[in-house]
Amino acid sequence: MTIGILVLSDQLNQRHAVLPLLEERFGASDARRHCRVLLIESSAPLERMPLHRQRLVLLWSALRHFVVELREAGWQADHREVESFGGALRAWCAEHGITELHAMEPADRPVREALERIISRWESSNPDPRAPDLPAPDRTGSKSSAAYQTHPDQTRSEAISPEKNSPEKNSPEKNSLGLTSRDQIILDQISLDPKTLEQTTLNQNGHAEPGSGLARLRPPRFAGSLHGSPKPTPEPNFGAAPTLIWHPSSAFLWSREEFATWAHGRRQLRMELFYREGRRRFGVLMEGEGPSVTPLGGQWNFDHDNRRSPTKGLAGPTPLWFEPDTITLEVIAKVRRLDASRDSRGLAPLPGDLEPFGWAVSRHQALAVLEHFIATRLAGFGPYQDAMVSGQPTLWHSLLSPFINLGLLHPLEVIQRLEQAGHPSAVAATAVPLASLEGVIRQILGWREYTHGLYHWLGPTYPHLNHFQASRPLPAWLEQLGCSGMACMDTVLAELKATGYAHHIQRLMVLANYGLLAGLDPQALTTWFHRQFIDGHDWVMQTNVIGMGLFADGGRLASKPYAASGNYINRMSTYCKGCRFNVKQRSGTDACPFNSLYWDFLARHADQLRANPRMGLVIKQLDRLPPEELAAIRATAAAHLMAQAP
Ligand SMILES: Cc1cc2nc3c(=O)[nH]c(=O)nc-3n(C[C@H](O)[C@H](O)[C@H](O)COP(=O)(O)OP(=O)(O)OC[C@H]3O[C@@H](n4cnc5c(N)ncnc54)[C@H](O)[C@@H]3O)c2cc1C
Ligand code: SF4
Repeated sequence: MTIGILVLSDQLNQRHAVLPLLEERFGASDARRHCRVLLIESSAPLERMPLHRQRLVLLWSALRHFVVELREAGWQADHREVESFGGALRAWCAEHGITELHAMEPADRPVREALERIISRWESSNPDPRAPDLPAPDRTGSKSSAAYQTHPDQTRSEAISPEKNSPEKNSPEKNSLGLTSRDQIILDQISLDPKTLEQTTLNQNGHAEPGSGLARLRPPRFAGSLHGSPKPTPEPNFGAAPTLIWHPSSAFLWSREEFATWAHGRRQLRMELFYREGRRRFGVLMEGEGPSVTPLGGQWNFDHDNRRSPTKGLAGPTPLWFEPDTITLEVIAKVRRLDASRDSRGLAPLPGDLEPFGWAVSRHQALAVLEHFIATRLAGFGPYQDAMVSGQPTLWHSLLSPFINLGLLHPLEVIQRLEQAGHPSAVAATAVPLASLEGVIRQILGWREYTHGLYHWLGPTYPHLNHFQASRPLPAWLEQLGCSGMACMDTVLAELKATGYAHHIQRLMVLANYGLLAGLDPQALTTWFHRQFIDGHDWVMQTNVIGMGLFADGGRLASKPYAASGNYINRMSTYCKGCRFNVKQRSGTDACPFNSLYWDFLARHADQLRANPRMGLVIKQLDRLPPEELAAIRATAAAHLMAQAP
């Protein structure tokens, strides 16, 4: 029996659930010498889902650095640079005679489904009389005979998800493989495309060895296409499929089952209550003992201290960026080659700037970003959390999301380190106001865990919701990352183009707010977010874009839509001063588009919004608008939207 461990590209941490487990089972040195670890760098997804260039560099460079880290720790780590994920996995298992393949539950649901599909199809195409009888798959409705098992420690949250047995509402159209178009895009990330497989190996330093180990294999058999039927092609004989064994994720603080237990039976899943439970459960920012334990400082939430408008000349500390090392330079060159190849095939270029690239790409560098945040920005995190300032893309934000999401940092270690550095008892912490410390911890222990828990709790129909039946296609300037004519939008898009980053309020109150007001197709906008952001993952996009940003879930997450006129942007940013539009105007050619769209949105959906008690005040304002004024505003909105049509 040879044991293989598949590490996915967002699980780049030696605390990965499987590695310590195998060390425990076989002893550390035997596990490292005899089990094989596989990491796959696949480029086929880009055919359908072109990602921001800097995101690609981050993903692939971080993966290669992790391979080096594993090898330095004594693991037999293999890296495959390929087009097709499925083909690479099968070839590797065959090459090393892998009989048991261990993997940690992916954060993104479709990734698990795709992996099971690969193994299942492999199994059914290579019936092996020696293969042991395997338990039936634990997926509701699955017809596959996949050779996979769930590790005994794992129970599935789907078993108690509220979606499980309910008829699908807003059921999206499925293709001949039973996939929706969104599923297909996600599945493409571990592509089933019938591409020629090219393998390149990395040397011990993690550098690609040109020509080394170059193997050309025949295409995998299951060629899924979004628009057509599967085209069966001859299957290379890879022998019997290994047994795929899932392990519960160690990447989050709350397991899916714990979240489900918390959520079960609650009428409203309020983030604030979840966050307080997390503070108690993990003993974060608490004082006292036993039943008398209370939140540090006597209150749970300091949000009211953290909403300041930007003052004149407000500037945050310079973030910590890194010079690309040899591995990163090789990946940058690869992305440049990919671009050239796309160009030669008449495909659109990848979005975003490739250089200068300064993101951390290893755990070592990510830890340095955390320490730099603590030293330079933690104290100032709170007050200007919601501020947006031209020329200041990062202010006091931590820039930690890409690293936590890839596994380079574990959320608990980040929270504990922040608490240690900022706790009033720490010698150097006197300058860290509790409001700032609590503010950032709430984002990670509260919002981040809540977002992940909800993603699995709400189930697979959630991303297809479209409460307002919005269907407008995305304007071309979103894809171009500029030239909308609106100063707020163009500033945020320019910053996004440069690094793949925008901070929370820019995402929520400029980008998503525009999408909500303009009635952009929620699924198309979610995919756009997913492609453009340095920290984009399915699990975090859905609740943030579909739920918080667009209210496409009809209020399962937010109690009211985050809809705001230009007035909010003017109050919280410096953008309006340099804009060709007038933020005080609601109609006419100079009117701020956020104003006309805001009133148009309220008027369009007045009946639905009237039912929401938290919208009562604004609906009253709408009702008080003279009809001729509302007509002029709506005509301005219509003219704006007409001009955006692709
Ligand atoms: C429309 C929209 C899209 C978003 N897309 C993503 C995304 O693709 N990936 C992503 O990681 N976050 C996303 N977020 C959440 C949040 O905006 C980012 O996590 C944050 O801006 C990352 O920057 P930072 O590390 O400087 O965060 P900080 O402001 O410094 O916050 C600290 C940390 O808290 C966590 N956090 C804060 N808010 C959230 C949240 N709402 N959900 C989950 N985690 C949170 C992140 O890990 C972040 O690193 C999105 C929010 C919105 C409204
Ligand atoms: S005036 Fe309107 S469009 Fe211009 S920056 Fe302000 S909010 Fe944005």
